Amino acid sequence: MPLLTLADRGLYCEPGDFYVDPWEPVDRAVITHAHGDHATWGSRAYLTSEPGESVLRARMEPGASIRGLPYGETISVNGVTVSLHPAGHILGSAQIRLVHRGEVWVVSGDYKTDPDPTCTPFEPVRCHTFITESTFGLPIYRWPPQSEIFAEINGWWRANAAAGKTSMLYGYTLGKAQRLIAGLDPAIGPILTHGAVERMTAIYRSAGILLPATSYAGTAERRAETKRAIVIAPPHASGSSWTRRFGSQSTAFASGWMLVRGARRRRALDRGFALSDHVDWPSLLAAIDATGAEEVWVTHGFTGPVVRWLRERGLDAREVQTRFEGERDDEAADEAGPLGSGTAEQEVYS
Ligand SMILES: [Zn+2]
Repeated sequence: MPLLTLADRGLYCEPGDFYVDPWEPVDRAVITHAHGDHATWGSRAYLTSEPGESVLRARMEPGASIRGLPYGETISVNGVTVSLHPAGHILGSAQIRLVHRGEVWVVSGDYKTDPDPTCTPFEPVRCHTFITESTFGLPIYRWPPQSEIFAEINGWWRANAAAGKTSMLYGYTLGKAQRLIAGLDPAIGPILTHGAVERMTAIYRSAGILLPATSYAGTAERRAETKRAIVIAPPHASGSSWTRRFGSQSTAFASGWMLVRGARRRRALDRGFALSDHVDWPSLLAAIDATGAEEVWVTHGFTGPVVRWLRERGLDAREVQTRFEGERDDEAADEAGPLGSGTAEQEVYS
């Protein structure tokens, strides 16, 4: 019997009787990270990494039962040994390692191997079966060095500030926004934030992540302070009435999709910065290789090309149809999922 199977509500571990990132409410959910397509509302109990507990709590329904487990620590769930290991995607993101009768499986969730000052670096975990994302699993996706991207972002901001324009930089509320803030040069001007970004950034700070000072941009009094400012806002704020208060502005979106020019044109943006929280093609293949896995399940993104490439290398690879979305070039993936109405007062993982 395989350690995980694809069931109606998500990836199910039958011997342990729990799900990994279920898309519908279940009794026991192990969560790789707090993005909406991996953390769905309504389950009775959630297990996540200890560094990810506060961000997951902020995204879940009030009163949700959430237990945080430190990276690398093991617990036994009905005889299946479960541990969580850094995935380098956002704060608290984890790969889930499952061991049962000598078989080792790892579910990656979303991950990247590039350094990121806002979360613990990705850690390769050896396993027999590896379940991977492939959001950017095509050879055309190769990220430029981050230092180049941040130099471009700061250069764009500096030029806008000199021209008297506000810089509107869009990126996902959880993860991308904080990584952007971490890379900004505060000497250029004030860093202002959309309310949703400010709330999440405060949680990052309480978790000990060091970030330049930011101010909430929502209040009218701040209008006088927007000169030379950069505003970090979620993609759904783009083009909304909220943005008009900032007067003359230049707009940009930070996303891996910005590597492809059409994506920026479709959103009518002035600039696009190819900064992604997912592995690019070479890093994806290197990460899979480092697991030593003989069997690989590919869950979301460009699954077909990745499966073909792995099979040509002699691996037992297959595409598995999940509801994970990875990084979308619109706002939907940024939202939490209030799909269920379960009461979550019971601590099933204690
Ligand atoms: Zn994600």
